Amino acid sequence: MIVYDKGVEEFENFLLSEDSFDEMSLGKTESIMCQGNGYMCIRGYAEEAYPKKVATTLIAGTFNIAMENEVTELPNISDAFSMELLIDGKRFFLAENNVENYSKILNLKTGELTRTFAYKTEENEFRFVMRRFVSAADVHIAVSRVEITAMKKAAQIVVLSGIDNRATNSGECHLIENVRRFYEKKFAYTHLVTNQSKIDIYVNASHKIFVDDAELDLVPAPKMSRRTISAQYNLDVAAGSVVAIEKYISYYTSNDADEVRCDEPCASYKILAQKMAVGYFELLEESVEVLAAKLWERDYIKITSSEAIAQLGINYAMYHMFVMTPSHDNRMNIGAKGLSGEGYKGHTFWDTEVFLLPRFIVQNPAVARKLLEYRYLGLEGARRKAEENGFEGAMFPWEAANPKDGEVTPKYNGVDVYTGDQLKVITGDIEIHIVADVAYGVYLYNNFTADQEFMNSYGYEIIMETAKFWNSRLEYADGKYHINDVIGPDEYTEHVDDNAYTNYLAKWNMEYACRSYNDLLAKDPELLARLDEKISIGAVIETIRERAERIYVPVPDAELIIDQDRTYRSLEEIDLTKYRQAELVASIAKDYGMEQISKLKVSKQADIMVLFLLFGERWADEIKKANFDYYEAFCLHDSSLSLSTYAVLANDIGYERYGYELFKRALLIDIGQEKHSCDEGVHAASYGGVWQCIIYGFAGVRMIGEKLHINPRLPAEMEKIEFNMYYLGQKLCVKASKDTVVVANMGERAVAVIIKNREIEIAANAAVEA
Ligand code: BGC
Ligand code: BGC
Repeated sequence: MIVYDKGVEEFENFLLSEDSFDEMSLGKTESIMCQGNGYMCIRGYAEEAYPKKVATTLIAGTFNIAMENEVTELPNISDAFSMELLIDGKRFFLAENNVENYSKILNLKTGELTRTFAYKTEENEFRFVMRRFVSAADVHIAVSRVEITAMKKAAQIVVLSGIDNRATNSGECHLIENVRRFYEKKFAYTHLVTNQSKIDIYVNASHKIFVDDAELDLVPAPKMSRRTISAQYNLDVAAGSVVAIEKYISYYTSNDADEVRCDEPCASYKILAQKMAVGYFELLEESVEVLAAKLWERDYIKITSSEAIAQLGINYAMYHMFVMTPSHDNRMNIGAKGLSGEGYKGHTFWDTEVFLLPRFIVQNPAVARKLLEYRYLGLEGARRKAEENGFEGAMFPWEAANPKDGEVTPKYNGVDVYTGDQLKVITGDIEIHIVADVAYGVYLYNNFTADQEFMNSYGYEIIMETAKFWNSRLEYADGKYHINDVIGPDEYTEHVDDNAYTNYLAKWNMEYACRSYNDLLAKDPELLARLDEKISIGAVIETIRERAERIYVPVPDAELIIDQDRTYRSLEEIDLTKYRQAELVASIAKDYGMEQISKLKVSKQADIMVLFLLFGERWADEIKKANFDYYEAFCLHDSSLSLSTYAVLANDIGYERYGYELFKRALLIDIGQEKHSCDEGVHAASYGGVWQCIIYGFAGVRMIGEKLHINPRLPAEMEKIEFNMYYLGQKLCVKASKDTVVVANMGERAVAVIIKNREIEIAANAAVEA
């Protein structure tokens, strides 16, 4: 069982726990209890071995292609947290009949993962405390501490622990071993190289052993076998004594912006030696402080509610959004599974701009900017993709890895089990709304920050290049411009024409480019001239303007319904009850193949609703309601991007009860009791979605027509939401209650905010209540 309420006092709503050991569902806590710092992430796997254990360590940006016919992915780097323990000659591992009082706890506030339990052998009993963290203070460092107490009588414990280079991504091996050795007899060291992208990886591991707090001066026996290097310690422990094995680990790569010269007489193990001198608890303390400064105190969200799960849920989401975000390096972005597992190969999708970016734009704009700079660095690959497909401008890839790689969506994904035919993936060819989603990210960032320097250096170019793409992608028929043969957000409908979301966003993207062009013409003709020289925007801007006006966009019909695309509403209806009630997503795929699904009136995820979320001011509530009612009935929420969108919308249009129910479902996508929903990694976008439910939805923070609105609509369960945010460079502290909202401007300049539909100027260092 996953338990949410173990935390008390300062850790109230900060502890996520599992209260029994279940070998069949290891993947769940490995994913949801992963630890990291945006540079690297290590799954919350057990130290001891199990057949189904997936011991993944990922380092952001180390993409590699393992072999022919594979696409680039984040390689699983050497496993260093694992260790083998022999207790009185027998391998230590847990099973139903030898473990009691098991608990595995991730402390979201400190980032520490702890497993405690009693382990029983025929003649003895042992108390285990296994704890570890990945440092937020020094992103290269991870440390673990295993404490074992023999309760009844003395025991012999053999520890075999080091670095395991056999790590693969489900069998695909990415790493060539260059060096494997010990330094100073106790620092295990390996130097590996990714076989295709040629990134050097340096891993160090070393130990400190204590008995009852006294450190032993031991030289381990070195052990090597193929692709592993370990230190062996043979320890005789008296009954009642506590043995502690501390393991210090570091990872570096030649891709690091702060590269340590590891090829010289190894600098990296010397750094580790310094860390070891500091010790586990002090290093943890340093990490906790940095985590507080970078996350918990900086971007706080406090919810007063009769249901504590809301606070736990947002704490959990904030923790993961920190762990998964490579805020240190603009050549990297957030993967659809963060850094928590192999799923989606570490690739970046629209999940970033539409689901995750708002959390950073609103609360930590510097990180948001980095994530957008990544897209700027991706322009080269996006231009290449456009050209290869016969279009102009920038056609951003559906899936992205290294920014310059361009499109990296796999061409095939699995095989038909009976025919062996490879199953084609067409998202990379026709799921093109990503192009406008990226532009939308720039727009939202600019509206919240007015970061002119960003716009000048990166933003305008992205907006204009994406507009040029749409301009060349349109097809003319019957006096209108159309966008045919696409996949919209709802991936259960393929090869559709005039997807409402895509068309609206394309039109908006083109209009935004025209507005930006005019602004620049008036305010900064020099910059415009430079841009024009680079991307020849002047020659096409008039065409863009004319065509944008004539793009076909579906409007509400007599029943107020907007067509999701040209064919959706005429598709065959079937009884979806069983699929809507299924525990696991994608249950419909058991009964129908993708081609058949595409012919049914069934949605994987929110589609038009996302449009209502991004540009909600354009439609009246009654239209939103009609479409909500219509489309939700056919939606299976088979993508984790769906529930939160529907939740925010439901709350907007007055379906508060249903909205709250959807919010709770969104919150539990990964931390609910379902055992296998996130084996391959967490659902990153859903964490941004949970943030949106609270800040966009309940607290009512929304950018509407380029103005900031705060219009809270708290559900019955919630009394108050307190959080900080940034608007036009000023820090605002908001307290949203059922009846009132207080906004304090902590900045140096006044800002105007529309609070409960009334524009209010908040002076610097002043607060208003409305
Ligand atoms: C969803 C996409 C999403 C992708 C990555 C798919 O299942 O349909 O909308 O971008 O997962 O999270
Ligand atoms: C997702 C697509 C993705 C494809 C290949 C599918 O499950 O829904 O968005 O492009 O996998 O990664």
